Formats: sequence, structure tokens, C-alpha cells
Amino acid sequence: MSLSPLTQNLIATFKILPGIGQKSATRMALHLLERNRDGAKKLAYALNEAMNLVGNCQICRNLSEQNICHICSDTRRNSDLLCVVEGPLDLFAIEQTDYHGYYFVLNGHLSPLDGIEASDIGIDLLVKRIKNGNFKELIIATNPTVEGEATAHYIAQSLTDVEILITRLAHGMPLGGELELVDGGTVMHALHGRKPLL
Ligand SMILES: [Zn+2]
Repeated sequence: MSLSPLTQNLIATFKILPGIGQKSATRMALHLLERNRDGAKKLAYALNEAMNLVGNCQICRNLSEQNICHICSDTRRNSDLLCVVEGPLDLFAIEQTDYHGYYFVLNGHLSPLDGIEASDIGIDLLVKRIKNGNFKELIIATNPTVEGEATAHYIAQSLTDVEILITRLAHGMPLGGELELVDGGTVMHALHGRKPLL
């Protein structure tokens, strides 16, 4: 390769991003070097700042620069409700709804094949928080995947001796969807999760 060692190193570093292969990495590296060095310096600075300063909230494990994040320190929220999600983006999605309780972010899901066990995703912390707290309902909003379902079950099993209502997000028909166009698994979930009309 005729590119300089530092250019090659930059390309190799871009490849750590998900979905970025040799071609895209080369394009990005050359774009920054040839056309946008100021932007690249800002990118480097932002990366450095975020990597050094963003940690996890000690209560909910969400990404935060503070020890206690802005959600956990907000006393106006509904202290009856705790919602468990797999990651920060899921929390963001729930925040777009009218939910106004607290959260726990697993930052993953159980995956024995990858060596990810309960303590790796903070389930021990979650159980402790619930046992020490006064939550009335735990909403398990892990994804409707095999791993997400297994994680939901594991959490529910860990709380059998605790008096708390444990609910799972309903899965079902998309709004505006037509029955004949929706996949079988989704229709089955929707059927099992049916509710009285009146
Ligand atoms: Zn928090």
C-alpha cells in the first residue's frame, strides 16, 4: 500500500466502528485528511472527552458524566415505577412515551454462549435496588428476542420472594398495520397479549 503509516493506522482505527470495512474506513480517513481537518480535530476532541468523562450512573447504569444521572436525581418522577431496558437507546425510546418512572439499564442481555452472565449486566444491582426500594411495579422492557426473553425470565425468577408487580412490554400489531401483512410470530404475540375491549 502506498499510503503513509499514520494514514494506514487511521484507516485501521476507523474499522473498529460497527459496519465499517476497509473501503468505508479508507474513504473516511482520506476525506478528513484532504477536506476537513478542523472537523477531524473536533471529532478527536469529542471522542477523547466522552471516553474520559462519560461513565455509568451508579444507580441505573445509564451513561452519565455524573455519579448519579439526571433521571435518577429527578425527584418529580413516579417513584412507583421502575423500567428495565437493555441499553441507553431503549431508555431513550421509552422516554419518548408518557412513562415518567425510573430506569435500570442492563447494557446487554444474558448470553451464556458469549459468557455474559447475570452479574455482567447488573442483575444483582437491580435486585438489590428493588429489595431496598419501594417500587410497586417493575416493567421489563428487554427486547422480544430469544436473549431478551431469557433475560426477562431470569429477572422475574430472581424476584419471586419480593412483593412487586412484574410486567412485560406487550408485543403485538404495529399501529396502522394489516393482519395479513404482519409476520406469524408477531400475530401470535398479539393474540396471546389480547385485552378486553370494554
Ligand atoms: Zn441513573
